[in-house]
Amino acid sequence: MAGEPQDDCLFCKIVAGTIPATIVRETETTVAFRDINPQAPTHVLVIPKAHYRDAAELAAHAPELAADVLRESAAVADEDKLDSYRTVFNTGSGAGQTVWHAHAHVLGGRGLNWPPG
Ligand code: 5GP
Ligand code: ZN
Repeated sequence: MAGEPQDDCLFCKIVAGTIPATIVRETETTVAFRDINPQAPTHVLVIPKAHYRDAAELAAHAPELAADVLRESAAVADEDKLDSYRTVFNTGSGAGQTVWHAHAHVLGGRGLNWPPG
């Protein structure tokens, strides 16, 4: 069910501490950790602790929590002293989503082309 921990979810396991991650920030409602396969000098994933399958489900069920994720994404960029950065939510496999627990990618520290491929 939306919001409930899922036994088979990688990011729920990171929230629970049963899978290790390099955590850079944590709040009551969110965790931010470095991506295992970084695509930029800063590549951090910001997730809600509660399980929602994607950003659309997160926004529909828990808009304040979605705002927490955005606020923490800005805090990550601030901590890494990024003037420019990109916050990305891949939603759906056609857009590259591979982990079905909502997450924001925070990317920065290099030039970022627009539009992306
Ligand atoms: P998506 O493709 O769903 O938008 O993003 C999933 C991200 O999770 C990918 O960038 C991938 O590198 C990252 N990832 C996958 N498994 C792990 C893991 O075990 N630990 C961490 N820190 N990141 C992971
Ligand atoms: Zn999950």
